[in-house]
Amino acid sequence: MAEQKRDYYEVLGVDKNADEAAIKKAYRVLAKKYHPDMNPGDKEAEKKFKEASEAYAILSDPEKRRQYDQFGHSAFEQGGGAGGFGGFDFSGADFGDIFGDIFGDLFGGGRRSSYGRSNNGPMKGANIRASIRISFEEAVFGCEKELELTLKDECKTCHGTGAKPGTSKKTCPKCGGKGQVVFTRQEFFGMVRNVQTCPDCGGTGQIIEDKCPDCHGTGYIANRKTIQVTVPAGIDNGQSIRIREKGEPGTNGGPRGDLLVEVLVQRHPIFQRQDYNIFSTVPVSFAVAALGGDIAVDTVDGKVIYTVKPGTQTDTRVRLKGKGVPSLRNKDVRGDHYFTLVVQVPDKLSREAKEALKKFDELSGDTLNAAKAVEESSEKEKKKKGFFK
Ligand SMILES: [Zn+2]
Ligand SMILES: [Zn+2]
Repeated sequence: MAEQKRDYYEVLGVDKNADEAAIKKAYRVLAKKYHPDMNPGDKEAEKKFKEASEAYAILSDPEKRRQYDQFGHSAFEQGGGAGGFGGFDFSGADFGDIFGDIFGDLFGGGRRSSYGRSNNGPMKGANIRASIRISFEEAVFGCEKELELTLKDECKTCHGTGAKPGTSKKTCPKCGGKGQVVFTRQEFFGMVRNVQTCPDCGGTGQIIEDKCPDCHGTGYIANRKTIQVTVPAGIDNGQSIRIREKGEPGTNGGPRGDLLVEVLVQRHPIFQRQDYNIFSTVPVSFAVAALGGDIAVDTVDGKVIYTVKPGTQTDTRVRLKGKGVPSLRNKDVRGDHYFTLVVQVPDKLSREAKEALKKFDELSGDTLNAAKAVEESSEKEKKKKGFFK
């Protein structure tokens, strides 16, 4: 069965006796925080948004609120689909002005949300999601990419109406043009009145009798398109680029939805990235570590000469300032590149090299004979003790 639903008052964080204004205010705050347009790709936010919207739809309607107070969630469950949001009916709730407010604040007005009940006014089309795969370097410095996509365009034959030219849409006889059907059902606690989107016209209130032959009544033609995607320098794996009005077409003269392109960055064999910093490890020979010397270090800008100090220990970390990833906000501001020097132990030595290394060891602490020296001294100890016994 469906997961346990939270109490609507709890969802909105309001008191059971909260008045209409308090409920609206609480919902406004949540809707603004969790709206999918504000949190692209965030499933958790989307869930919270839907949960809050559902709670608001019920509690903002005095009749539905009364039913909810009396019967709880079971007042609105339909045909075993409890918990599902898909079939949830928003028609009674007044979302229009709330989203008008929110998007007025955030986007400077003029924008309509695809949520809400307006079937006749202009509505923005749905957003489309796509993804592109780019290399590590392309993410660091930005790039231009082409994305092949199937986009719907308004059918030119019927101008998006879906009706055969010369004919027009008819008022849906099932719902009388309202787009909703009301039915009552006997439940164990009494008659329940349910409002559902009209199945015949899909909520539009109109049906097409003579379908347009070009688009088969959908009003749209699918076209294969190439979209130019400008990837900004500094983008990170999993971030999305919004391309305005390249989504689904709007309805009734509304703007197209947006195209949200998720960027997938390939792993680099040498570099790792964390925020705007780059990390790598650089092997250094024992001789260079001991004596000091110049080494060539790979960075995203190419090789950089670094002078190793004499007596450098393994795991020494070095910072190359400004050799990291550019900031998305200002590409002149860059992170740093940190590399860790790892002193290499040779695993293959020629006979001469072995001799030289033994000679070196004799001169620098005689570590190869350290154990032998311990053995000998303990032998002497034993002899001494034996002698004096
Ligand atoms: Zn058409
Ligand atoms: Zn209908």
